[in-house]
Amino acid sequence: MKKSVLIIGSGIGGLSTAVRLLSKGYDVKVYEKENTIGGKTNQLVHNPFTFDLTASILMNREIYEEVFYDASLDYKNYIEFIEVDPIYRSFYPDETFYDFTRDLVSLIRNLESISTEAAIGYMKLLAEVYERYTIANDHFLQQSFENPFDFFNISSIINALKTKAFSTPHQLISEYIKDEKLQQFLCYQSLYVGISPYEGPSIYTLVPVVSQLYGLWHLKGGMYSYVKALEKAIYQLGGVIKTNYTVDEIIISGDKAIGIKSKDKDAVFADIVISNADFPYTMDTLLKNDVHKGKYTTSKLDDLKYTCSTFIIYLGLKKRYPQLSVHNLYLNVDFKENIDSAFTGHLPIHPSFYIYCPTRVDDSMIASDGECISIVVRVPNLFFKNITWNEDTVKFMRNKTISALKNIPDLGDIEENIVYENYLTPQDLKNSFNSYGGTAFGLSPTLTQTNYFRPHLKSDSVKNLYFVGSSVHPGPGVSIVLLSSKLVVQEILKDDTL
Ligand SMILES: Cc1cc2nc3c(=O)[nH]c(=O)nc-3n(C[C@H](O)[C@H](O)[C@H](O)COP(=O)(O)OP(=O)(O)OC[C@H]3O[C@@H](n4cnc5c(N)ncnc54)[C@H](O)[C@@H]3O)c2cc1C
Repeated sequence: MKKSVLIIGSGIGGLSTAVRLLSKGYDVKVYEKENTIGGKTNQLVHNPFTFDLTASILMNREIYEEVFYDASLDYKNYIEFIEVDPIYRSFYPDETFYDFTRDLVSLIRNLESISTEAAIGYMKLLAEVYERYTIANDHFLQQSFENPFDFFNISSIINALKTKAFSTPHQLISEYIKDEKLQQFLCYQSLYVGISPYEGPSIYTLVPVVSQLYGLWHLKGGMYSYVKALEKAIYQLGGVIKTNYTVDEIIISGDKAIGIKSKDKDAVFADIVISNADFPYTMDTLLKNDVHKGKYTTSKLDDLKYTCSTFIIYLGLKKRYPQLSVHNLYLNVDFKENIDSAFTGHLPIHPSFYIYCPTRVDDSMIASDGECISIVVRVPNLFFKNITWNEDTVKFMRNKTISALKNIPDLGDIEENIVYENYLTPQDLKNSFNSYGGTAFGLSPTLTQTNYFRPHLKSDSVKNLYFVGSSVHPGPGVSIVLLSSKLVVQEILKDDTL
């Protein structure tokens, strides 16, 4: 008989795990508290504009494809990749900008326009970090680390040392690159996993390096088309998705997870329970007895380190702005002070930010002439109690950001061309998706919260209970969460054959 599986949450982690398990013959049902699926990888539609709610930068396209291969499906029937080139355009307050192209010849020319030294440093950094990436990918990202011996063996320790993770991204980058603007461009990208380039491990310099070496992609219709693709696969494979179902408790009998309970709905029972809800939230709220939380009791959760959060402005514009590429960075004055503010509990006075303009390559995201753009600023998470996300806070951040945006050449008139405007705050991340502390990326992927030291995919204290998503191994970001789904399914299959 088919084993039954309940998945709490329809984020990328929950949906991709459902596809993989359905294809292996499990009977899978997904329970989502919101009325739409996708979790943080969601969509905001306001006719004629379609915005990706959060994720937009697509690295490692093969990991996206792999979910379909693993289920014996052809990804081409579900999603369409569009190549992004330049991968980035970085703008500065002195009105200069640089393109980071896929093509090596034009990339070198652009870097030489900074200096030959900058071009040489960039190439050397690519080579150094590429070598580390190959080690991290083979030895860490693709291992589940359920067993201490998986990590504490000589080969893993040698490999950990080879990744030389003990310096920060800024330290590593500045060893090779002296030009401040280029340093800022590279440093900014470690913020994509919610850590500071001045404090986190240097392994996260792999974000800009992997983007440069393997390219970035856009999915036709936006990142949310991946959620729709997973949904289609789930239904084709016979799975069930229930929305507007808030799970209030994971039911445990003896030492086994046997189902889920909701205040206003009937309890549901199954052989296996997987929580895709944020791991610290799952521990804090869905497991009621400390014995079942293992080492992640509420006081331990308070001691852990969490990623920063984000403030996003969505703008529907009636005019086209061809000077924006798909992915843009605006790297503002007092860069370090303003980046640090997201980790020290302050709002940035001169925000640096990422601007996403998908309509540069994808007309399907707008049903008129104009652009949809999202501007993403890193801000403190809700563990900093001194900031309340009320109307005044939103207005403050909105005005600071728009005024900086107007410094980009030819964007001076942008405010006059706004026909739709909306925002996402850390409080929204908490309220809508139960992001613990309103963080953007969950538990911080610091060295002491990585690999074996990150929450595992399988409960240490409760049988038949598993976890998938940003705050468990291997870490945050859509492609990394997809790896977490691959690893959790491997663990479930392994346990099933014991
Ligand atoms: C602003 C921002 C920008 C980002 N940009 C990028 C990017 O460019 N590229 C990239 O790769 N990644 C990016 N990310 C990260 C990426 O979006 C996340 O890592 C990924 O979406 C997380 O997926 P998940 O499955 O872990 O969890 P979530 O998306 O958090 O899904 C968890 C789901 O569980 C549901 N849930 C919670 N509690 C309950 C309950 N009690 N009952 C039922 N359901 C429940 C939630 O509603 C949610 O649907 C970004 C994230 C943010 C916030």
